Amino acid sequence: MAIRRELSGLPLVEDSRHSILRVRSGGFAALEKHVYQRYPEREWGTFFEFGYRRTSWGWALSYVDGFWPEPGDLDRQVGLTRFVDQYSRRAFHHTATSPLAMGVVHSHPQGSCTYPSSLDDEMDSYFAREFGAYGKGKPYCSLILQGNPITGFTFTGRVYDRGEWLPVEKLLTVGDQIELFSSEAEEPRPATMGTSEATRARLVSVLGQPSAVRLEQSTAGIIGCSGTGSPAAHVLARSGVGSFVLVDPKRFAASNLERMHGSQWDHIERYPAPYKVEMVADLIKSINPNANITTLAGNILHENVIDELLRCDLLLGCTDTQHGRAKLSDLAQHYLLPSVDLGVLMEGQNGRLTSQLSDIVIYSPDFPCAFCSGRIDGIELSNELMSEDDRSKRQIQAKEAAERGDDPDQYWRQRPRQLHTVGYLTSILGSVGAGYAEGWLTGAFTPPHSWFQFDIGRERLDVVVPPRDRNAACACSRHLGWGDLAKSYRNVSKPEHWPNRALLLSRT
Ligand SMILES: [Zn+2]
Ligand SMILES: [Zn+2]
Repeated sequence: MAIRRELSGLPLVEDSRHSILRVRSGGFAALEKHVYQRYPEREWGTFFEFGYRRTSWGWALSYVDGFWPEPGDLDRQVGLTRFVDQYSRRAFHHTATSPLAMGVVHSHPQGSCTYPSSLDDEMDSYFAREFGAYGKGKPYCSLILQGNPITGFTFTGRVYDRGEWLPVEKLLTVGDQIELFSSEAEEPRPATMGTSEATRARLVSVLGQPSAVRLEQSTAGIIGCSGTGSPAAHVLARSGVGSFVLVDPKRFAASNLERMHGSQWDHIERYPAPYKVEMVADLIKSINPNANITTLAGNILHENVIDELLRCDLLLGCTDTQHGRAKLSDLAQHYLLPSVDLGVLMEGQNGRLTSQLSDIVIYSPDFPCAFCSGRIDGIELSNELMSEDDRSKRQIQAKEAAERGDDPDQYWRQRPRQLHTVGYLTSILGSVGAGYAEGWLTGAFTPPHSWFQFDIGRERLDVVVPPRDRNAACACSRHLGWGDLAKSYRNVSKPEHWPNRALLLSRT
């Protein structure tokens, strides 16, 4: 836990609850340009709209857009930021009718600190009360930004919710790079990499020291910890990624030994078999004893899993399921939480492989959703979420239909002949996915395409780059960053017959 300094006269909560704010890089650049327009000496500001989710650890906030001032809305005569009543009233009325919450952002002069002044405290007390009343209890957020081409960007922030102030600890910008900024009020976190600098010398020589620091401060969420997820975690742990959230519902089975990194012969003999997330956590710990790891036996559709994933900088989708993919897509659009989704397909007969396809998709608010891209097979999606009862009923109906000479697919569609995926292919894909995650976090490189496929058994790897455009009929671009307020636009949610929550196994 970072050591927290009091921001000012408005006391913060005394427990570890905090807030993380995500912003699209493009939106953040526009916001910075606006608030620094009277630099270097004078401040400027704006109201802004944001989406949110209340989680077990605090608030996950996502910036939607500025509620920009019009001429006369801010007082140009003073160097400080002063909101004129007409502007505040417009913002109050807007928040009363908009589903989104409203916040305030202002700059401090170039080179000065971003701690709130006593005037800022007065402003925040007033706005917290008024926005709370007009917004019927929605949270209020106040940010102070400072930009300096030499010493860099600094900020502080706080969120008001029902009588309490929570600090904004992290600001993540999501674009070609996923940048992380910690609040000026946070003490820098001590290094987590247990071993000496020497362990990272190779990585530093390729990506540079700032990248090593960036990876160490990163939290990667890995959904699916078997064939693809375990090598991805393995590679990320060796690169020095400091924190992990691991999600997988299953326990280890003997057949996993062929492809699961971290699994050993004696795992087969243990009873009960360990959860896959526990084994991957052990693998990470064997490489970096100081890594922070949260393990959950569950699924990406569980609400408590989503809470934990919202602490991550980025996610790796390693389940190769339709519902997993649809959820990653929703998280990217609604919560600005980006991901690399990895899928494998092996087909063949009689010992001959006809297809060894790897599929890599980037989900981010900058790209179309999974449905726009035609990535989701609706029938397959509903089959995955069906109860066992319904599934066997459907299969019987399909069999009967086939016997009658009718089309069985309307009841249950058989998947095309598909083989289990094997270790060499899942290890390649997991490693490549981890590499793209490292590139994205550090800004060292980006994937060549936001969606592509290749087949290691074909000439020139048979690389395919499917088209990816937003479908005009799809609503995904309209709720970017809405958080839980986009609930009714979610494409997938946990089916009733699943357990309510994932099992939180450990947190280190
Ligand atoms: Zn101020
Ligand atoms: Zn869409």
